Amino acid sequence: MKSICPGSSIWEMLKLLSLEITKKSNILEEMKMSNYIIAADVGGSRLRLILSNSNADNIADKIIRLEEGMTVDKLNEEAVKTTKELLDANGIDKNEVIGVTMGSAGVPDQERKILTESPNVPKSMGGVISVIPAIASAYGWKNMYINNDCSTAAECAKRFGHKRQEIKLGNPYASKPFAYRFANRPGDDKEEDYHVVIYWTISSGTNIGIKIGDSLFKGEFGTIPEFGHQFHMEKDPFGNDLMCGDGAQGHLEAVLSGGGITKIMRNAIKSGAISKGKLYDKIVNETDDIKLPVALFETLDDENAKIIVDFVILSLARTMGAIIVNYGPGKIEIGGGVMKSFKHVLIPAIKLLDENKNNTFYLQRGKTSLPDICVAKDYGTDYVWKGAVAGFLAEYKP
Ligand SMILES: [Zn+2]
Repeated sequence: MKSICPGSSIWEMLKLLSLEITKKSNILEEMKMSNYIIAADVGGSRLRLILSNSNADNIADKIIRLEEGMTVDKLNEEAVKTTKELLDANGIDKNEVIGVTMGSAGVPDQERKILTESPNVPKSMGGVISVIPAIASAYGWKNMYINNDCSTAAECAKRFGHKRQEIKLGNPYASKPFAYRFANRPGDDKEEDYHVVIYWTISSGTNIGIKIGDSLFKGEFGTIPEFGHQFHMEKDPFGNDLMCGDGAQGHLEAVLSGGGITKIMRNAIKSGAISKGKLYDKIVNETDDIKLPVALFETLDDENAKIIVDFVILSLARTMGAIIVNYGPGKIEIGGGVMKSFKHVLIPAIKLLDENKNNTFYLQRGKTSLPDICVAKDYGTDYVWKGAVAGFLAEYKP
């Protein structure tokens, strides 16, 4: 027999209420899911637009080729059109997007949310990229973010990079491709205890990005530091001048970059310092610059190859030692093409920190300890735009 007592009706009410709460939290969950972000990435003669979210996932992307003769307005028009294609193809309404973001080399104009002096656009665009305000105004999105590429990469290392607790103490291969957790430091039990995070790119050039707590270290015009363009040394091991891409002699970038290593190899052949051997045979007729560092790391049993690689390792160790001593990072993440050879350059350089008595870290190690040192996830390939998402999220906190 069914009893209709007041108790059971309260029970029914509670059930209804809990159903209502579940429904509400599902709606909230859906709202969270619709935190889409449009991210832009510029480089290699193309602008890529990525449909992303607060996890910096690449849900879909589309590429716009940048060709000589293209104007700033023309690129804006293309970017607005491509954004619509991305949204339509994925069934996303413009109201589900919370904003638009970009990281790229150049000088950010934070007032107008445009990038100036970009080295990555055709001359006809005069170094200006203004796709962010163009897209935002076309779709009525208020939230915009732009920053210099090394700055956003540091944001990425901080938010989406290797997590301290995922890195096994003393086991460099626990986090792929390479992350070395050195010591127990105060705060180790917390999930994230990196107060200072450094992202370091060793690619066609070299530079670092620095995040200190919630602050980005970026200088007056948003382009600081220019770490690769500081004096390092004048000559390579064969006595040839070390010339930076900017024409100055002795800059760090003339050693620690794919371009720098390539130039050292070409100059060694040109000056006759390398005139025979396995490395010589491999590169003497090679016209593709990118293949030279690859050939170098493939011929490490060659005497000249070893001289160059040892020189790069020592430069890397000394610079890493200086970064540790100058900034006291909890974590350094290193990306860029040169890190694909991390076993031949980074690991021996880390060893040198404890063996080479002339590196800055060795001399100061009573006062500071080694940070976690990691190769960036996927060698940092996506750190610039993912960092633009990270920077956006830090600013707008959806
Ligand atoms: Zn330079």
